[in-house]
Amino acid sequence: MTDCIFCKIVSGDIPGDIIYQDDEVLAFRDLNPQAPVHFLVVPKRHISTINDFQPDDAELIGKLYLAAKNIAKQEGMDESGYRCVMNCNDEGGQTVHHIHLHVLGKRQMNWPPG
Ligand code: AMP
Repeated sequence: MTDCIFCKIVSGDIPGDIIYQDDEVLAFRDLNPQAPVHFLVVPKRHISTINDFQPDDAELIGKLYLAAKNIAKQEGMDESGYRCVMNCNDEGGQTVHHIHLHVLGKRQMNWPPG
């Protein structure tokens, strides 16, 4: 998608603080971190929202979580814990319509979320 900011990070058209990538998945640090560690894990292929998931996407979605847990270990927060969040549409708090798994850690998380 030409007007998608995360597609532009995937393509290298705009810079991102990239911490992991493979053929299908990219992870980069959030521009406006909400925790001492806050990174986003995205599929390189554009999918707008959770509502657009198809059965064939199941393996790709699993790979987002596998990347998240590997990076969380590299960041030294696998034992202390971390939160994974994927927002959907306006009331879910989604502002960028290219799905992304937020991974936040290195502070105590609260529940319920705001
Ligand atoms: P959401 O509100 O769930 O759609 O999350 C979008 C996230 O993307 C926010 O936490 C933003 O801080 C983050 N973000 C927006 N633009 C960039 C960017 N160019 N690089 C890194 N993170 C970004």
